[in-house]
Amino acid sequence: MDYRRSYIKQLFDLAPGTEATAFGWVKTRRDSKGLSFVQLNDGSCFKDLQVIVEDGVVDAELLKKVTTGSCVAFTGLVVESPAAGQAVELKATSLEIFGEADPLTYPLQKKGATMEFLREKAHLRVRGNTFGAVFRVRNQLSQAVHQFFDKRGFHYIHTPIITASDCEGAGAMFQVTTALEHAEDGYKLARKDPADDFFGKPSYLTVSGQLDAETLALGLTNVYTFGPTFRAENSSTSRHLAEFWMIEPEMAFCSLEGDMNLAEEFLRETIQHALDHCGADLEFFNQRIEPELLKTLTHVVESGFERMTYTEAVKHLEASGENFEFPVSWGTDLQSEHERWLTEVKVGRPVILTDYPKEIKAFYMRLNDDGKTVRAMDVLAPRIGEIIGGSQREERLDVLERRILEAGLPIEAYWWYLDLRRFGSVPHAGFGLGFERLMMYVTGMKNIRDVIPYFRTPGNADF
Ligand code: ATP
Ligand code: MN
Repeated sequence: MDYRRSYIKQLFDLAPGTEATAFGWVKTRRDSKGLSFVQLNDGSCFKDLQVIVEDGVVDAELLKKVTTGSCVAFTGLVVESPAAGQAVELKATSLEIFGEADPLTYPLQKKGATMEFLREKAHLRVRGNTFGAVFRVRNQLSQAVHQFFDKRGFHYIHTPIITASDCEGAGAMFQVTTALEHAEDGYKLARKDPADDFFGKPSYLTVSGQLDAETLALGLTNVYTFGPTFRAENSSTSRHLAEFWMIEPEMAFCSLEGDMNLAEEFLRETIQHALDHCGADLEFFNQRIEPELLKTLTHVVESGFERMTYTEAVKHLEASGENFEFPVSWGTDLQSEHERWLTEVKVGRPVILTDYPKEIKAFYMRLNDDGKTVRAMDVLAPRIGEIIGGSQREERLDVLERRILEAGLPIEAYWWYLDLRRFGSVPHAGFGLGFERLMMYVTGMKNIRDVIPYFRTPGNADF
């Protein structure tokens, strides 16, 4: 056996009369008079291969082991299929069983299991239609990310996952320590002084690679990261994970306008890539998960995004007459309900909000001349709310120092970040895009736990 055998996807293109072997996991077996029909899938494409087994061709006892979830290989002849929706099927001449799946205990016996149930069987859910499709789209979108940046001359960089700079303030952090030991009666403190800890000071899992990416952009010009990011917020929503993947481009010689253009091109191009490469999977999501999915995705690719300042958005929200759970006025942070109203009701497509009050945004965002707002932008999408957060960065040393102090942050820790403004500073900008939010948008899946193979949320780090 060798990985260089063909996939089921390729088998569909073979001419009738060709001999072929199909390897995969059984979706179903149906027996009728003189014939058995087996639906086989190897993950290479959405469509199952139909295998026809005529009575007596393979040993009857062996055929009984072809049950939902079992792993098998059928060899046979590719023949034209009389069934609708498929050009060819496989007429079996022999069968090999790799792994049986006892119908009495195999957990994914029936169709129609709930998403909640499937999360508890996350190690097996990939064998079903929905999750096969999710992970194929996830692969294609990942490839699209690298292609998008490569075409534009961006360098793919790797920023650290462990960091001692608790300085970004983007979210609660997980501490990384060897000072705690796991004892039978609970945790035991092995080292009391942070100086004796592994890294010599309190260290954490990163909440964003941005600050490091900035250092690389000021030398490589255009860079991006695409890696895991961690937030220890103890909330369970359908749009937050404790471990998620973030894409963070950072561009020197770039203003907020350039940043917004890149964000818009990014979404349009990666969505187009999914439409081009995952047709059957998206068709399935359109039919079973989110009606109108294909229509909205096509619409997004074709139409520009609306751009609006935070101040304008607040005026629209105040005039909306909606009874929001959280009231809005200038200066408040927008909640998901406000973001969704703006993009779903007011605009009807993605919208980019800019120039937020400085109090609700990070210290590194460039201060506007009004002294009250910063050059921030959030891209909001229907169904999802915030999908991208970005900004032009403060490149003026004196203003940045003032902003760090105003935010009450320890300025000594930022010596290297401030060095970027001391030596060869330049206007630069970038954004962070949660890859799972993009996945939710493209697939129509409603819960972020269902677009990543193994989700990390409060209380859950299994598998
Ligand atoms: P939100 O307001 O939605 O919680 P945020 O403003 O805290 O997000 P940023 O710090 O701006 O998020 O992070 C950049 C991007 O990372 C967000 O636009 C979003 O796409 C994604 N993101 C942030 N937090 C999470 C999370 N806990 N799980 C998944 N994706 C996230
Ligand atoms: Mn944000």
